[in-house]
Amino acid sequence: MTIAPSAEELDVQRIRADFPILATQVHDSVPLIYFDNAASTQRPQAVISAIDDVYTQTFANVHRGSHWLSDKSTEEYEQSRQAVGEFVGISNSHEIVFTSGTTAGINLVARSWGDANVGPGDEILLTEMEHHSNIVPWQQLAERTGCRVRFVPLTDDGQLDLEQLPSLLNQATKLFAFAAVSNVLGTINPVKQLVDAAHEKGVVTLVDAAQAVPHGEVNFSAWATDFAVFSGHKMMGPSGIGVLYGREELLESMPPFLGGGSMITQVSKDGYSPALLPAKFEAGTPAIAPAIAMKAALKYLEQIGVERILRHEQMLVERADEHLRNIDVVRTLGPSTKRKTGIISFVIDGVHPQDLASYLDRKGIAIRAGHHCAMPLHDRFGISASARVSFYAYNTLDEVDAFGDALHGAIKLFRG
Ligand code: PMP
Repeated sequence: MTIAPSAEELDVQRIRADFPILATQVHDSVPLIYFDNAASTQRPQAVISAIDDVYTQTFANVHRGSHWLSDKSTEEYEQSRQAVGEFVGISNSHEIVFTSGTTAGINLVARSWGDANVGPGDEILLTEMEHHSNIVPWQQLAERTGCRVRFVPLTDDGQLDLEQLPSLLNQATKLFAFAAVSNVLGTINPVKQLVDAAHEKGVVTLVDAAQAVPHGEVNFSAWATDFAVFSGHKMMGPSGIGVLYGREELLESMPPFLGGGSMITQVSKDGYSPALLPAKFEAGTPAIAPAIAMKAALKYLEQIGVERILRHEQMLVERADEHLRNIDVVRTLGPSTKRKTGIISFVIDGVHPQDLASYLDRKGIAIRAGHHCAMPLHDRFGISASARVSFYAYNTLDEVDAFGDALHGAIKLFRG
């Protein structure tokens, strides 16, 4: 069934007008169609202006000053922490640690919590759909401690094979770290069910929410997870800023990860005492302007409504799927469009994803080709690379149709 353009529930043209970069003409004169949102989204003028405002009006270092400007900067920085927490259902802002991104958050947990709690013979459980950011830090932990990294397998349609879960969560499992949403398949995982299953066995949980927080209502308290991480640049916010949520009791028990300024209460030649939360995990001068500008991104997302964004994405992904399904040499990866966000990855028999991406790029269509930092996932499906389109609130059905038309051109060119 074809979805009529009038099905667009969002006022997409109005939203697009807020994003200066979407007016860019690439290759000199081709209008940009930006379908690489799973890698990084674009940001509205409100966020760009918020960054500008920091540097023109309030910038000074935080938590150090004995002057008006530093107090002001600190106040804005801490207000942003509170706002970020509330956006994901966390009212205790001591549990919100600013990091440089999802990767940094996972590494912090692997180093600090991991080194203190994991030993030889212990197991870390991941899934086959993880981003390398949620694999490599655990493999490094295994190198340091002698623990073992195991994976929940995937079904052929790109969902977690939950039948395997009870045996994989066993006496040896110390932590279960998994993505709420796959960055390749768009699969929406049953987070609460997974957290509950882990907790029943006394296993600590970490949710990689990088692809979830920007694309639907997310509540870390309702998930009851021990840790969760996400990045600003995937949710219309600045790059260089991310968030680690950790249950206070766990964060309290963990040693600091990086040492330096701001993370101490006292230093002598004999040693140091760590600061209270969350400063204990924010050594050095943080990403002040990006952290403050996160507030503007959250406000913008709230104005549109993340649930409406998800519905919009699902409409776009349904249309893209329709185009792809009509081509017999195309194989799409992942579950039905009802069970995913606005991400669709696929392979075309006889056309290398990189060649496709280059062809589409000449038409102004920005997609991603390669392994998308998920090589074990691609191994699972017996391929080394795929093409990925990923949508956000500012993408239109017309853009998806232009992509559909361009696909036929690419297939004609490369397959003859
Ligand atoms: N996890 C997932 C699911 C992701 O999609 C990404 C980014 N592609 C990351 C982790 C890494 O995020 P960052 O590069 O912002 O640290």
